[in-house]
Amino acid sequence: MSRPVDVLIDFLKSEETRGVSSVYLDEEAREALRELHRRKKQGPAPAAAASVNLDEPDETPAVAQKPAPAAVVVAPEAGSPAERIAALKAQAAGWPAARALGSLRETMVFSVGNPEAELMLVGEAPGYQEEREQEPFVGPAGQKLNEILRAMGLSREAVYISNIVKFRPAMERQTTNNRKPTADEMAACLPFVKEEVRIVRPKCIVALGATAAEGLLGLTGAVAKMREQWHEFDGIPTRVSYHPAYLLHGTAALRDKRKIWEDMLAVMEKLGLPVSDKQRGFFLPK
Ligand code: URA
Repeated sequence: MSRPVDVLIDFLKSEETRGVSSVYLDEEAREALRELHRRKKQGPAPAAAASVNLDEPDETPAVAQKPAPAAVVVAPEAGSPAERIAALKAQAAGWPAARALGSLRETMVFSVGNPEAELMLVGEAPGYQEEREQEPFVGPAGQKLNEILRAMGLSREAVYISNIVKFRPAMERQTTNNRKPTADEMAACLPFVKEEVRIVRPKCIVALGATAAEGLLGLTGAVAKMREQWHEFDGIPTRVSYHPAYLLHGTAALRDKRKIWEDMLAVMEKLGLPVSDKQRGFFLPK
């Protein structure tokens, strides 16, 4: 009899042969893999604790008989980046992993911009305005983002803008109010972001805000601790900065603007963009 882990490996190999590079695993499957990882790290388990052994034949394997076939992101290998992104977008619309949570609204908001861009910016989730227009970052935070891009000498059309979560997080009696996506909501949509990065292959990524940094890089804590260094997502240099909504509060001081701007200067340098003396001096105290 095959071991469950072999069945899983066979399943993944066959998906890979079909050109599939991301597979959705439900929480049960993820827990089974975590357990496998824990056991490998700990070495042989004591007999009394071996109630589940993923290395041995098992009548009720946790993963192998439940591969969640309806929720596989199939990113086409052929076609232009724009065509491949369009195919991903079509899949995201009824994404079972997102629907299964029951906490996300139905309208999908995928991405905007150039699928061959050198810069990709990733936010957390669409809000009221984004859902209405089915486009990321079109509300007040989006206007701030546009201003930041303009200061960098870039346009919204020249970059690729996306969100970790592709649906507006739902709330009771929701009108124009929005909430941050949860870790589960981000995990459900992350396979799409991974595929977007694989297709766009930007020179660098910016995670906008702590929530995006958590979803993308698994970082927790304050943005202040994540900034001023390069992280990596799928081999792509990734910078964390504050969410542009941070600049919407009347209290945003010059030094806060400068912090965001310094993050963008680092990004411009990474992209090899020209930086004028004037740009270098933006938001410095006079
Ligand atoms: N905030 C985000 O993180 N994403 C949007 O698309 C809009 C606001």
